[in-house]
This record gives sequence, C-alpha cells and structure tokens, in this order.
Amino acid sequence: MKKIPPQKRKNIYENVNKQFNKASDLMKLDANIKKILNTTLNEITVHFPVRMDNDQIEIFTGYRVQHNNVLGPFKGGLRYHQSVNIDEVRALASWMTIKCAIADIPFGGAKGGIKFNPSKYSKNELERVTRRFTFALGSTIGPEYDIPAPDVNTSPQIMAWILDTYIQMMPPLERKRCLHVVTGKPVEAGGSLGRNKATGQGVVFTIEEWAKENKFDLKKSTYIVQGFGNVGSWTSRLMKSCGSKLTAAEDVSGAITNPKGIDPDDLFAYAQKKNGLIAGYPKADAIDKEVFLRTKADIFIPAALENQITSETAPLLNVKLVAEGANGPTDPEGDMILKKRGIHVIPDVLCNSGGAIVSYFEWLQNKRSEFWELEEVDSKLRKKIITAYYKVKNKAKELKTDWRTAAYIVALSRLEIVYKDRGIFP
Ligand code: GLU
Repeated sequence: MKKIPPQKRKNIYENVNKQFNKASDLMKLDANIKKILNTTLNEITVHFPVRMDNDQIEIFTGYRVQHNNVLGPFKGGLRYHQSVNIDEVRALASWMTIKCAIADIPFGGAKGGIKFNPSKYSKNELERVTRRFTFALGSTIGPEYDIPAPDVNTSPQIMAWILDTYIQMMPPLERKRCLHVVTGKPVEAGGSLGRNKATGQGVVFTIEEWAKENKFDLKKSTYIVQGFGNVGSWTSRLMKSCGSKLTAAEDVSGAITNPKGIDPDDLFAYAQKKNGLIAGYPKADAIDKEVFLRTKADIFIPAALENQITSETAPLLNVKLVAEGANGPTDPEGDMILKKRGIHVIPDVLCNSGGAIVSYFEWLQNKRSEFWELEEVDSKLRKKIITAYYKVKNKAKELKTDWRTAAYIVALSRLEIVYKDRGIFP
C-alpha cells in the first residue's frame, strides 16, 4: 500500500492568502482595505529563560501575532507545539479575524504560542514556562486589548496561570478588573460553564443544521474523527446524543477502527489514562493512516492540525461531509478535489467558531460580574452559530461559490464597512 507522506509542512500562511485573494477578488474588496487586511498589525516574538527541574536554564521562543482589531480587542488562542512558527501563527491570527467577524462577536483576531513539546515537561516546568511567557508578553495582552484562550495543547489550567501572572503585574486596585484577560479559564477561577466543550458543541450544532437541511438522518449516520484533544473528544462525545456512530479515529499515536461503533465516552476515559492518546484502545483494531482516511463514513471531522486534507489525501476520503473542527485542515488543492468529488465542507472559520463565541460570553460575564446557567450559554451559542451558518450558506448561494469563500466574503464585507465608516488615520 502506498504510504502517505507525513503531514507536509506547507506554509499555511500561503493558504490563507490564497483563500483571502479568491474571496476579495470575487467580492471586489476595496483595494486599499485589501492591503490592510492582507497584513498583520503587530507581531511579537519573545525569547525567555526558564529554570528546569534539573536546575538548568532552557530558552524558549514564543509568539503573539495580532492581525486586526477594527471590530474589537484582539482575540485568539495560545498553542504549545513543537511546530509553532511565525507563519503558522500569522495564518491562525488571520483566521481569528475572519471567524469573529462571521460570528458577529466584537473581537479582532490574534494567535500565539510557544515552540516546544509540552508533553516532555513536568507540570511544574509547564507552569514556569507559562508564567514566564506571560511576563515576557507583558502589556502586549490585556482584558480590553488582547485576550488569549486555549488552543492546541493548552488548557483551562494554563489560562488560570496566565491570569494569575498577569494580575501580579498590575497595581492592586486594577487587579479585580483583569479577570477577562484570558478566556477558557476553569469555571471556579472565572470561566464560563460550557466553554470547555464549546468548540465541539459548535461543530455538532453546524452538523445538525446541515443534516436537517439535507434531510439526512443523523441517527443512521457514521463519522470518523481525526484528533482526540479538546475538539475531537468533545465533538465525538456530543455526536453520541445525535445517535451518530463513531467508526474510526486517529491521533498522533495511531489510528483505530471498529465498524460496529466506538463509544466516544469510553475512548475518552481510556485516553485520559494514556496521556490523552488513543493507540492501544482494546475495543477497536489498529489501522494505518491511509486505511483510516479511506474509511467509508458519512462525516469526517478533522480536529487536529492544519494541512491534513491535501492533493494526496482528499482523493482517499469516502464521506459526504467534512466538518472542520481544526483550523486550516484543508489546503486549497484539497478544497478543489473535495469540490469536484461533491463532498461538502463546513469551513473552519464557521464550523469551529463555538470556542470563540463562548469565549465572548465568558468575557461578558466577567465584565458584568455575572454567571450564566449552562442552558443559557448553550442556547446563545446555538443561536449565534446557526445565524452565522445561514449567512455563509446564503452568501454561497447568492454568489454561486463554495462555503469557505462565502465565509470570507461575509467577514470581509463587515470589515470593509467599518473601515469605510471610520476612515484611515491620519
Ligand atoms: N483557539 C480557539 C480557536 O481557534 C478559541 C479562540 C478563543 O476562544 O479566543 O478558535
């Protein structure tokens, strides 16, 4: 069997630019505004020393890229991963601007991260790395200026450490007003109910809407998931309530299948004991990546890293729908192949916007000293993401284009209006 090359480290910032140019050409975006949105506003790179458990010092490199803040404070996650680099962070920051504009939440776009593999460090080291990174960022972030959140390999615990460190840098009187400097905090430390599952919940809401519209019975459906971190595991566990059956899953440790169905809660409980990894799950068979991608199912949920659906892998997929839980899982060539093959895509900037939406709710609750019930969070999330869904769908229909391009156009039109209203300083 032909071996699939390991994830190609293609420059994803180029993908963003291609997507952006396609949309801006089709909508005839004002050429000057195009120049602004084609560029990131601020790019911060920090190198900082941290003492390891063995008493040695290690130097880390972290980034925060702020793409745009015309709609509100910069917003976006922090990623801890060995492949983090400035172009990746630029791309992810740009997608946040688009995502927040489509979801109609008053935020701009940013993203950050540290280039390292957190699984190789102790909990105490992770805490020191996080706190030192926060200190290095200093006033680059702030509750009304730039608000980080979890992303790949970062958790509510890490957000709590960032909050605590940020507060130490503030004068005592200001401290109580800083709770909203990060979102995705643990509930007891100022987080929102429903935030931890929010990205997965949003993915499921969009899939349900797609199924309803296409008279597709989710109870009889099957799906496969790539990645079993926060987004992959929550999406899978929530799909259970729709009656949809998980038949294969893949993560960095390997791929598994069981045509009779894998119980996502049971798989999650297993992974919890194995550092979050799924390999070796006893109630499924191990398969290779190619067999995983070829699995016949109704829905594929990529919920891992970018550039997974490419010219090499898109021809293998045997599904009707791709619901993008990850950011940037499909590159422009992959998109073209999916389109030709009649596989519908709910694009990332719409499909995975649930996390950003509930981050906005958390931010609002913190500012107003409120605490919303879970039902309230969920129903507000559903309303926002479904509104965005129809904005994208209707735009695609109107312009006879794909949903990704339509999603960009919805966002860019909104940004264009604000720039035209406000003008360019000086
Ligand atoms: N990291 C998530 C994303 O890519 C959430 C961002 C946020 O809540 O600010 O959408």
